[in-house]
Amino acid sequence: SLLQRPQLRRLLDVYNGEGEETRVVGGAVRNALLGRPVTEVDCTTTMLPDAIMERAKRAGFKAVPTGIEHGTITVIVDGEPFEITTLREDVETDGRYAVVHFGRDFIRDAMRRDFTINALSLGLDGQVHDYTGGEADLAARRVRFIGEARTRIREDYLRIMRFFRFHAEYAQGDPDAEGLAASGAERQGLAILSKERIRHELLKLLVAKRAGETIRTLADHGFLTGLLGGVAEFGRFDRVAAYDTDNPVPIWRLAALAVLVEEDAERLREQLRLSNDEHRKLAAYAGLLNLLKTRALPLDAGAIRRLVADHEPEALGVVLAATAGEPSPVVHEEAREALARYRSGAEPVPVFPLRGADLIEGGVPKGPKIGEMLARARQAWLAEGCRTDETSARDLLRCVLEQA
Ligand code: ATP
Repeated sequence: SLLQRPQLRRLLDVYNGEGEETRVVGGAVRNALLGRPVTEVDCTTTMLPDAIMERAKRAGFKAVPTGIEHGTITVIVDGEPFEITTLREDVETDGRYAVVHFGRDFIRDAMRRDFTINALSLGLDGQVHDYTGGEADLAARRVRFIGEARTRIREDYLRIMRFFRFHAEYAQGDPDAEGLAASGAERQGLAILSKERIRHELLKLLVAKRAGETIRTLADHGFLTGLLGGVAEFGRFDRVAAYDTDNPVPIWRLAALAVLVEEDAERLREQLRLSNDEHRKLAAYAGLLNLLKTRALPLDAGAIRRLVADHEPEALGVVLAATAGEPSPVVHEEAREALARYRSGAEPVPVFPLRGADLIEGGVPKGPKIGEMLARARQAWLAEGCRTDETSARDLLRCVLEQA
């Protein structure tokens, strides 16, 4: 069915023939076989980067060398981007990055990939090429390393995180025993990886289908020690994860995890190189989760509105998780319905109606005082129900100016 996509067909028509071969590879083939959505289509080819560029030019496709050092070119066909990469073989590694050479052999390219389910390739003729038993593993829903797990992990320790990430997304049952044992034996290697690479895999793991269980497995086996702080009730993560299944937001799941392991938002920011915006959200969500844990947060319709205005609609996921199975199912249902309304746009997110310019216009001199006044006014606005109609906004402004 992948090959019925017109843009992909055009691409493959151009990049096959004249002694060259190009196939779809990796996640796209895996997901197509599973009947799951395919978002990005990656291809691998016998052609060298210069030749990929040259053929794009000839066919009138736009081509951008997005990862030239790895031999990756992004080719755009009728608005759809495809990554085409020259076939590679690993030659050596320091445990962080493999040094690769270009090759012309599809088998060797498959063997250097991490898991059997990630090593399938699809030709223009519709044939699926499986050199590692990936189709059987896909059918059995298991994630297995290609070759000896321990050796493969030593080539690139990130594969430990990837093992759990792909397990959480695609597998059934327990993690593959060999992969699990090898990951455990080599887990100190995670320490040499860049924080950015860990963060990328961790955030993907946190939104995977079976994130809850997998996080617990990770914790039980001590993988989170060193990466995150103390270990607490991981069972709660299941609950947290269960209430945003349609559209999970990585950062708020990270917040849930942070609360569970009593990890500090500041340390996580540094540990995972979070952006300012991510850090702000993480701290806010983690704060909410903590309040809910100690039941210090009253939950009613007004509180829901305040939450959304103060943070964002996704913060309702925190409420959903915390109120699941609690004595007050009304709040739970209200929060669920509210989240649906905000997500669909049926209800607008309340936006604080005053700007600095409003105060200046009202006669307050420019300066740091403006920010303080706005912050105080915002608190009052939140406490009083986040009204956004014009009369309320005017009243609020009058109040602020009188206090000045
Ligand atoms: P998703 O879209 O869910 O991230 P994906 O399979 O596209 O899935 P990527 O991380 O984009 O995942 O990797 C693309 C492919 O490159 C993988 O399917 C795998 O074959 C190969 N690959 C990526 N990272 C590694 C690695 N660290 N070691 C070995 N092979 C890898």
